[in-house]
Amino acid sequence: MRFGKGLLLGLLAFAQVVMGEDYYKVLGVGKDATEKQIKSAYRQLSKKYHPDKNPGDDTAHEKFVLVSEAYEALSDQESRSMYDQLGYDAYKQRKQNGGQGGGHDPFDLFSRFFGGSGHFGNRPGERRGPNLELKVGIALRDFYNGKTTEFQWDKQQICDECEGTGAADKVVHKCHACNGQGVRLVRHQIAPGMVTQVQMQCDHCGGRGKSIKHKCKACGGERVVRKPTPVSVTIQRGMANGVRIAYENEADESPDWVAGDLQVTLVEKEPSLEEDNPDHVDGVFFRRKGNDLYWKEVLSVREAWMGDWTRNLTHLDGHIVRLGRKRGEIIQPGHVETVPGEGMPIWDEDGDSVYHKTQFGNLYVEYTVILPDQMESGMEKELWALFQKYRQKNGVDLHKDSGRPEKVVLHEDREQEREHEEL
Ligand SMILES: [Zn+2]
Ligand SMILES: [Zn+2]
Repeated sequence: MRFGKGLLLGLLAFAQVVMGEDYYKVLGVGKDATEKQIKSAYRQLSKKYHPDKNPGDDTAHEKFVLVSEAYEALSDQESRSMYDQLGYDAYKQRKQNGGQGGGHDPFDLFSRFFGGSGHFGNRPGERRGPNLELKVGIALRDFYNGKTTEFQWDKQQICDECEGTGAADKVVHKCHACNGQGVRLVRHQIAPGMVTQVQMQCDHCGGRGKSIKHKCKACGGERVVRKPTPVSVTIQRGMANGVRIAYENEADESPDWVAGDLQVTLVEKEPSLEEDNPDHVDGVFFRRKGNDLYWKEVLSVREAWMGDWTRNLTHLDGHIVRLGRKRGEIIQPGHVETVPGEGMPIWDEDGDSVYHKTQFGNLYVEYTVILPDQMESGMEKELWALFQKYRQKNGVDLHKDSGRPEKVVLHEDREQEREHEEL
């Protein structure tokens, strides 16, 4: 049995060596993945498997190393085509023989993406960059239908060209002025014959203790560049207006710190008929309150009074909500009709799944009745006659019924009366 176990382990190790790894699979991308997709896969997976996030988990550590290995192989055009031609084993052998070993230290690579020393900012002495809050305007229809979209912001990034060194040749030297200390002792004469030594920040290297020969052209030696950076955001159906989405370590980068978090707030933006309404839906004019939607519908006097009308309201996803009344069904001005289930989708973690069906809030339709400001004279005469006929027969006199005084006292008269009294 002892034998068997050893043999099995040996076989396993053998199998791993023979089969090797598929770098594309490691990053979860296709063979035709773009540079951008490879980068974004690395960003996500390296954070996920980072040993600081998975203390004591050796598998995660191995994956972390593998992910950076895969990134290094596929991010460079030359080595990618070499990998594509040779396959894993021959590629690895070639790399090792070429004296490049395993490429960068995986933590170095991580720090080129997220700054700092390649760790997650929870180590003593490790600085963390500021968190950043961004507001992104989202159309109501996207809150209703759900959408994955992209926005851009000017993010400070570690310079790719010099890998964050600031040097054209990527080589950083010890500052000769302060001998790498970052500080210098300066003698000050405070009075004749009295000299004191003061420790000052090295003006040659700005206190960093490092200097470079030739500044990187891309960043001018600043080690960072600010450039438009796309961020992908997924709006789930029914997410609240003002919902916050956190992107860990995706705020401004710097070699001096671990990037802070990017906090994105999704806010409903004013509807724009051109941009947000490709389907020409009425729903773009809905107003949202929590899970409910509000809509104002206009009726003519005839419709409000006599009934016999329909409206087709085009909702935010293009489906039709039918409103209407049969003949004889009256709607009072200002009446609010509740249409159940035609409000916003009620957000749920599971979304629309087998276990869970999306429920919806209500749609509230408020009716406004519009009186015509002109009429054909024939129509006016006929209507007048009609009203006169029924008014005399059994008309309602709202003035009489109100119990208000019959005698009319004008405001000016009232004032005059007062003056008389005072005299
Ligand atoms: Zn210095
Ligand atoms: Zn640079």
